[in-house]
Amino acid sequence: AAARNRPRYETTSNPIVAGVGEPLVVVEGVEKYFGDFQALKDINLTVTKGEVVVVIGPSGSGKSTLCRTINRLETINAGEIRIDGKKLPEEGKALAALRADVGMVFQSFNLFAHKTILQNVTLGPIKVRGQSKADAEKAAMVLLERVGVEKQANKMPAQLSGGQQQRVAIARALAMKPKVMLFDEPTSALDPEMINEVLDVMIQLASEGMTMIVVTHEMGFARKAADRVVFMADGEIVEEATPEEFFSAPKSDRAKDFLSKLL
Ligand code: ADP
Ligand code: MG
Repeated sequence: AAARNRPRYETTSNPIVAGVGEPLVVVEGVEKYFGDFQALKDINLTVTKGEVVVVIGPSGSGKSTLCRTINRLETINAGEIRIDGKKLPEEGKALAALRADVGMVFQSFNLFAHKTILQNVTLGPIKVRGQSKADAEKAAMVLLERVGVEKQANKMPAQLSGGQQQRVAIARALAMKPKVMLFDEPTSALDPEMINEVLDVMIQLASEGMTMIVVTHEMGFARKAADRVVFMADGEIVEEATPEEFFSAPKSDRAKDFLSKLL
């Protein structure tokens, strides 16, 4: 309900929403092994443009591995992943370009410690997208303002709180103009009082029409922002449903068990 009330479908002037409803991330029959251990088992998932998918599940169920295969930080052993109709290339320039279409925010902030906040955000656009320094800095300041850390632009990452650093990480990913944003437990390493400032930025992003895949244990976020909840266990997608359906009437025993432990 909340998700469907979002204004994003009406804001056609926003380029992010062009093609809403078309498949953007397609994961087909993906299998992933680490040695003999199978971390992903026949994963099939289609995320459409403008959709927000929340992935939940117990620790070790393969959520991070799935994110990392979508960004090609991990190779896959079988199946196929397509981003906006293009198969993920093995390596080289084509991979760098396609990877730039997929913004990623991790649990740990991963900012470049020896660069300023502004440099953290401009580096990718200058190196990968070939933007001029002036253009990249102008765009970066707009993004830093959007996530509420524009006053910190010339500071070093260590001078910022965890919540501020994570918002910079979001701005840095957005600076590449990604088609989809992946978030892997972006608030798990934060002090409780900082969680909402990061979730608020993500909710804002969702309302603007960004396609998002979000691994999180923040069920409030899932209820508010998700179009769909995907529940994983033991390397499989066990259940997919709207947040309303999933939280009020989970179908599988594994989902019921998982939800009972969260409360
Ligand atoms: P989640 O994010 O749901 O907690 P992960 O995707 O991190 O789960 O891990 C899924 C399973 O794959 C776990 O059993 C984990 O130990 C295993 N795994 C993840 N990465 C590696 C790796 N690089 N080498 C070996 N095993 C791994
Ligand atoms: Mg994980």
